[in-house]
Amino acid sequence: MVQIQRLSKAYPGRRASPITALRGITLSIEAGTLVAVVGPSGCGKSTLLRIIAGLEPPTEGGLWLNGEDVDGTRSDVGLVFQRPTLLPWRTVRQNILLPAEILGIDRALAGRRADHLIEFVGLNGFEHLYPAQLSGGMQQRAGIARALAHDPDLLLLDEPFSSLDALLRERMALELQRIWASTGKTVVLVTHSIPEAVLLGDRVVVLTPRPGRVAADIAIDLPRPRTLEMIETPGFSHYAALVRRALVARDEG
Ligand code: ADP
Ligand code: MG
Repeated sequence: MVQIQRLSKAYPGRRASPITALRGITLSIEAGTLVAVVGPSGCGKSTLLRIIAGLEPPTEGGLWLNGEDVDGTRSDVGLVFQRPTLLPWRTVRQNILLPAEILGIDRALAGRRADHLIEFVGLNGFEHLYPAQLSGGMQQRAGIARALAHDPDLLLLDEPFSSLDALLRERMALELQRIWASTGKTVVLVTHSIPEAVLLGDRVVVLTPRPGRVAADIAIDLPRPRTLEMIETPGFSHYAALVRRALVARDEG
C-alpha cells in the first residue's frame, strides 16, 4: 500500500545549514494493516505523515501509494491532526461534509455518507451542534469522521488523542481499532504513547531523535481485538519493553 524508499527531508535552516528532519527512511506498509509510529518529539513524525499525504515533497528518496508515485495532494488519503481542526462556524455535519464539497462529490451521496459516519463515530444527536459545543473527545471523533468522509483507503493520524484525558484516550484508542477493523482501511498512527502503540499496532515503528531514522520495526503478535485488560499481561509488557528499549537506545549509546 505505502512504500517508502530511502526518504530524507531537510528544511532550509534559519542560518546557513539546513535542518534534516528525516534521513534514509525505508518502510513498507501493507494494505489493511495498522502501523503505529513512535519517536521523541521533533524527530520528524509529523513531517513523515505530511509527506505520505502528499502535502510536502521529500528532499530525497521515493514514495509510492499503491504502486503510484506520489506527487501533490492525494484524494485517497485522510488526515487527522493532533488538535481537531474543525471550522468553528460550521456544524459537525457541515464540517464532515467539507472534504466532499472540496472534491466536488455528489451532494446526495456525500450527505448519506456523512449521516452514516455521524452514526459510526457515535455523534448522532450532536450533528447540528458547533465544535465549541462539543467535548474534546467528540471533536476528535468529528475529525476522524471528516477524514473518512471521502472514503480514503489510507487514514493517517497525527497524535490524535494527545489532548484528551487518560481514560477518554483509552476509549478512543479502542474506538479507532473498531473503525479500522470494520472498514479495512490502512492506518498509520503517530503517537507519543508506548502502550497506545502496542495496544493498537500490528507493527510499531520506532524513530530515532532528529534526524528521524527507523530505529526498530517491531511486529506486535497479540490477538485481536485488543482489549485494555491485555495491557496487564506479560505478552504486552514484553512488547512495551522492546519499544521502550528501542526508544532509549540512542540516548545511552
Ligand atoms: P515531530 O512531529 O516528530 O515532533 P516534526 O515533523 O514536526 O517532528 O518536526 C521535525 C523537525 O523538523 C523539527 O526539528 C522541526 O522544527 C522541523 N520542521 C518541521 N516542519 C518545519 C518547517 N515547515 N520548516 C522548518 N522546519 C520544520
Ligand atoms: Mg508532530
